[in-house]
Amino acid sequence: MVYGIFSDIHANLEALEAVLSRLDALGARRLICLGDVVGYGASPNECIARVRESCEVVVPGNHDYAAIQRTSTEFFNSYAREAVLWTRRTLTPDHLAWLEGLPLSATFGTGGPYRAVHATPCLPDKWDYILDVQDARLQFACFEEQACFVGHSHQPVLVACGRDGRVSLERLDESALAADRRYLVNVGSVGQPRDGDPRAAALLLETAEGGSGDAVTTIRIVREPYDVERAQRKILEADLPAVLAARLAVGQ
Ligand code: ZN
Repeated sequence: MVYGIFSDIHANLEALEAVLSRLDALGARRLICLGDVVGYGASPNECIARVRESCEVVVPGNHDYAAIQRTSTEFFNSYAREAVLWTRRTLTPDHLAWLEGLPLSATFGTGGPYRAVHATPCLPDKWDYILDVQDARLQFACFEEQACFVGHSHQPVLVACGRDGRVSLERLDESALAADRRYLVNVGSVGQPRDGDPRAAALLLETAEGGSGDAVTTIRIVREPYDVERAQRKILEADLPAVLAARLAVGQ
């Protein structure tokens, strides 16, 4: 089975459409969304509609939770807060109700071998960041599955944990998952990448489910260019803070 896993769309419809087309072309038949569908960008209703119709698993992010007032905006910077208030006013009642029904943490795959959560498996509604090996080490005790997929930091990262408990950072361009190791995978951001590469990011997971015994599970980060200028124009036309448009061009 080929899964497309993505996160942090942030109401950027142009980036989302580009990622959905690319994942489809690469054979991804089941889509998993790790949250922050809204916040920052100008197309929250359109992005929720696309995610609702195309993803089999969706967990909420902190911006989604702020939009439905389940998370306070006190730790948001002023631009993020302004965008949350605009998003709250803009979302349809039906889309707000859909956000309210999302589970904070979910499993997917035949028999549930993988976990999906926006920020951390330990405290999914505390919105902590996993930025280094130290942060990651604590998290492996909080999920039982072989791999946990996260977003939130907007930076693709692969962390592996061996049988001996040793935790290490690995390359995430294309990797085979070893059966005797466990993984924490940050899939990057669709709609507001912050790793210096403005292209939308998503992850392709190819599993051996139902395949032959020697099949290998692989993951690969996909980067896709999209119409950044159109997304920027919509942010400015909506009177959202201009800095939210500017940052898309530089991937920060
Ligand atoms: Zn985010």
